[in-house]
Amino acid sequence: SDDYRLVSRKWKVNPTVIDFGDGLRVQEGELTIMAGPCSIENEDQIEKTIQHLVANNVRFMRGGVFKPRSSPYSFRGLGLEGLKLFYDMCRAHGIKIVTEVMQVSQIAPMEPYTDVFQVGARNTQNFNLLDELGKVDKPVLLKRGISGTIDELLYSAEYIFSGGNEKLMLCERGIRTYETASRNTLDLNAIPILKEKTHLPVIVDPSHGIGIREYVEPMALAAIMAGADGIIYETHEKPEEAASDGAQTLSFTESERMIKKMRKVFDLR
Ligand code: PEP
Ligand code: MN
Repeated sequence: SDDYRLVSRKWKVNPTVIDFGDGLRVQEGELTIMAGPCSIENEDQIEKTIQHLVANNVRFMRGGVFKPRSSPYSFRGLGLEGLKLFYDMCRAHGIKIVTEVMQVSQIAPMEPYTDVFQVGARNTQNFNLLDELGKVDKPVLLKRGISGTIDELLYSAEYIFSGGNEKLMLCERGIRTYETASRNTLDLNAIPILKEKTHLPVIVDPSHGIGIREYVEPMALAAIMAGADGIIYETHEKPEEAASDGAQTLSFTESERMIKKMRKVFDLR
């Protein structure tokens, strides 16, 4: 059959657990929090973010060094040198990093310095990239395509899983609709639907999902109540100075408040 099969809950009833060692797991029944800037910018920014995460017991830092920008004139990221700095600084504090891989040729050089390969919304159906990530022994966070259906996301997941990489997480990050009042439309519906269809952890990105700083927190809390296994979002010491996505980025004060609320809401489930 040409249906997706291996990522289906019909094939594997038990939810997938991704073990990072040191007692750190992404799994159903626990709330995973991943936070950090849209783009890695410099050593000071990484250091300040690590301090913020450690103070709040957050074990994953996100941050891009290869950035998929709509305009070629926008900041494109620090590249591999930035990744090495990011990885080394985080490792010294026991923090795992989540960072986007944009093309097949980046996988091998990135691998020693990456804990989670993020596949961005513009690459969800880059099937050659998915095939190659299927051969990698590192977890993958697969984002939903900008105009992708839930089934298309699951077919893309099947590429990676069937290639042999079962350390896979899905990410709802908002889809393009006719609505222009927000950057994207966070599809809360996708959360219970994905949780029923697949055994893979479902992580939600409210930052790209709505694109407006003030509304990131309510969307994160709603996603948790809808059944999300984790939240990934953007935070920066000075959001207004961020190299990318500042308008949807939380200050550390806002981030800390949201972390506390997310944990409270998760306990209500
Ligand atoms: C990002 O995480 O900064 C990003 C570019 O996300 P997406 O691929 O969902 O747009
Ligand atoms: Mn971003």
